[in-house]
Amino acid sequence: MQQGHRVVCIDNLQTGSMANIAPLMNHSDFMFYQHDVITPYPVPGEVHEIYNMACAASPPKYQADPVHTMKPCVIGALSALDLARDKGARVFQASTSEVYGDPDISPQPEGYNGNVNPFGPRACYDEGKRAAEAMFHDFHQRFGTDIRIARIFNTYGPQMDPRDGRVVSNFINQALTGRDITIHGKGQQTRSFCYVDDLLNGIEALMAHEDGLTSPVNIGNPGEFTVLELARHVLRLTGSSSGISFHPKPQDDPMQRKPDIGIAASKLNWAPKVALEDGLVRTIRYFRASLGEPAPLEVAARS
Ligand code: UDP
Repeated sequence: MQQGHRVVCIDNLQTGSMANIAPLMNHSDFMFYQHDVITPYPVPGEVHEIYNMACAASPPKYQADPVHTMKPCVIGALSALDLARDKGARVFQASTSEVYGDPDISPQPEGYNGNVNPFGPRACYDEGKRAAEAMFHDFHQRFGTDIRIARIFNTYGPQMDPRDGRVVSNFINQALTGRDITIHGKGQQTRSFCYVDDLLNGIEALMAHEDGLTSPVNIGNPGEFTVLELARHVLRLTGSSSGISFHPKPQDDPMQRKPDIGIAASKLNWAPKVALEDGLVRTIRYFRASLGEPAPLEVAARS
């Protein structure tokens, strides 16, 4: 909108929050529809760019209703592609590092085909996102649809739902409320955490790229940390006296994640700028404010 665009926002609010778009609601260049992309969504008039970001991304959220999860991944992608074809628009697909599953190689380049279990608790998301990539590929080949695909690695930052169930939000939330930090397994599995502003800069560069970068591009921060290291960072940066408790590692939980960002660097001149520690400080500040009010439900219920 700052660049002069009109924006149509479509969200079923399964994981989204009206508070995040409240400042835009009265703006004449912004339209919001509460709608699930698993049913068609005609948009009147011209459309130049489509960003298909629908689907819960947190494992507890997307596994809560796995039969639904496959639908925004597949049907939602098809709706976005049909709309792009109809309008002659460029279309962006929010793909994921989950297409690599539990990888056999590290770092993971875009040419790696992955190691995904098609018959397990993560399959609804992983295979759904892989099917979406296949459809993007086929629309591009068959109809010349102008596609862009980012494989997004673990992202965090302000405006994240403190209760969304992912590791960064869980650990900060637990540290700030004095509860144990819950580590799955021994905490030796790794993730590469990308600050939200870096991700958005990468997506913007990809969508603006005019030479037809239509194959998938990894967007993530190659800094790799074990989950235990993340817990220690969060405890130190919050000054929390929370303990650490260890729990069973979920089935198919990948042991390693680290993007090879060679394509993003050479073709988009993109690299992440925000170090984990700086990003965590900003995210902790946001969580402190958002946890401050209103009071967490369980506390309110007891008093
Ligand atoms: N994890 C953890 N404690 C939590 C939440 C997650 O140890 O309270 C682990 C999880 O098992 C995984 C890693 O942290 O190994 C990242 O999990 P997340 O749900 O954030 O995303 P994923 O990369 O697995 O999709």
